[in-house]
Amino acid sequence: KEPVSRNFIEQMIDKDLEEGVYETVHTRFPPEPNGYLHIGHAKSILLNYGLAKQYGGKFNLRFDDTNPTKEKIEFVESIKADVKWLGADWEDRLFFASNYFDQMYEGAVKLIQKGKAYVSDLSADQIREYRGTLTEPGKMDPGAERSVEENLILFEEMKAGKYADGEKVLRARIDMASPNMNMRDPVIYRVAHMTHHNTGDKWCIYPMYDFAHPIEDAIEGITHSICTLEFEDHRPLYDWVVRELEYKPYPPRQIEFAKLYLTNVVTGKRYIKKLVEQGIVDGWDDPRLVSIAALRRRGFTPESIKLFVDLCGISKSNSSVDYAMLEYCIREDLKLKRARVMAVVDPVKLVIDNYPEDQIEYLDAPNNLENEALGSRKVPFGRELYIEREDFMEEPPKKYFRMFPGNEVRLMNAYFVTCTGCEKDENGNVTVIHGTYDPATKSGSGFEGRKVKGTIHWVACQTAVKATVRLYENIIDEEKGVYNEDGSLNLNPNSLTVKEAWIEPSLKDAKPYESFQFVRQGYFCVDYKDSKPGEPVFNRIVSLKSSFKL
Ligand code: ATP
Ligand code: MG
Ligand code: MG
Repeated sequence: KEPVSRNFIEQMIDKDLEEGVYETVHTRFPPEPNGYLHIGHAKSILLNYGLAKQYGGKFNLRFDDTNPTKEKIEFVESIKADVKWLGADWEDRLFFASNYFDQMYEGAVKLIQKGKAYVSDLSADQIREYRGTLTEPGKMDPGAERSVEENLILFEEMKAGKYADGEKVLRARIDMASPNMNMRDPVIYRVAHMTHHNTGDKWCIYPMYDFAHPIEDAIEGITHSICTLEFEDHRPLYDWVVRELEYKPYPPRQIEFAKLYLTNVVTGKRYIKKLVEQGIVDGWDDPRLVSIAALRRRGFTPESIKLFVDLCGISKSNSSVDYAMLEYCIREDLKLKRARVMAVVDPVKLVIDNYPEDQIEYLDAPNNLENEALGSRKVPFGRELYIEREDFMEEPPKKYFRMFPGNEVRLMNAYFVTCTGCEKDENGNVTVIHGTYDPATKSGSGFEGRKVKGTIHWVACQTAVKATVRLYENIIDEEKGVYNEDGSLNLNPNSLTVKEAWIEPSLKDAKPYESFQFVRQGYFCVDYKDSKPGEPVFNRIVSLKSSFKL
């Protein structure tokens, strides 16, 4: 590995290993099971898993389920499915922070015994008030004067359920004058009479994140506890907890990196929840969202997400990445892997008047011009075809090389056809296009007699299968602002377009999650929710063209 290409986390780990601070690398992904994972979490998952792999270390999946208010089993299951799908294999190392509640309680008792924690009677508002400001030190909490014995009794009573929610808290005794507000005697335990999804009613006190997290890491033997930048100011507290509880021999170390933000998409759980509740999207995995479940449903692959995360890199400063880069990654991944097939999304009929009626012939069509290994398939051809409406113009502008009266084009994988005219309804809309074909020009026959400039795709009417296709745009029109004046989300009314398309019969029984390139239209994936046997629904993953440049 080139030392120059190593990111700052790798450099820190290299140094730690060199200096013997740690002997191995042990990372974790610690989601709170309070929602679905999104593309940002994918970055954290692949980073932590990737580092463990790279250094021959271990990777844990740990549910940080210490806050019973928002957590649900449903989310535990969805998170496991998403982490697995991304390929981050936790093997037998699946943990729940709530299984450490006893150790956390003991840790709190230990702090009290050391004189490093005390029970406070202050309300949340009072604690905030007493905390002071950046320019002024905080005021002492009257509880800070309690004796160790009194604190032990009160904390035991908190645990036994003697106090109502908010009546008492346990605070760490650190420094009420610290320039870091997180160090001004932070709350480490609170009373909450709530049923926990794992521990039921065993506990009515719960540890705060800043106290619980370092303990979880230490118990599991995590070496490098990677989190996002907003926790940088919490690191002194993390180190304080680890030090005061005397974790040996290899206390974990916290490292922060910048969150991944994407432009033009909604990632905030609150907003997604609103979209789901208001029925604007079809659940947490609506293909317009960027939850991992949504990306999977839309047809993104784990490989494309890995490529994306790698391209984003690891950094210490927040920035957002254009959604177009994610699209670039899925195109890159599918380019050589998927068959290119014909589907007509906005159909108009083309009749080849000199082709025998009722005849169907099966033509060879290569599946991927850039990857012969994908082989070829047989595509039925007949007298009546569907072509795209935009591939015909009665009066074409200059440089229009598709069908217009008198012009010859190539029907992809088939024959040259010369347009002879069209039929129209009373409103002037084209209903049928006519043409004649030249049998000598059959694709694959080696015909060299003349060249044509346009090639169009088609589907034979007689054997075509009807399918639903869904085209997407970003759900938020960012150019006009993410929010309206009244604070509501500024939704793009065109974020979903549903169309009926005609597809090759070979696609009729495509399975959920199977994906294809539809000539000229983009990459499409079979929707697992709405497809029925013989009636596939295709979600467009991405169009073929982009102005995006790396
Ligand atoms: P959200 O509120 O968006 O769900 P979170 O931080 O509350 O984010 P957690 O379940 O606490 O979600 O996160 C689990 C891990 O994923 C944490 O280590 C967190 O730092 C990381 N993470 C969350 N969002 C991002 C992001 N946008 N980019 C990179 N890592 C992230
Ligand atoms: Mg979360
Ligand atoms: Mg969180």
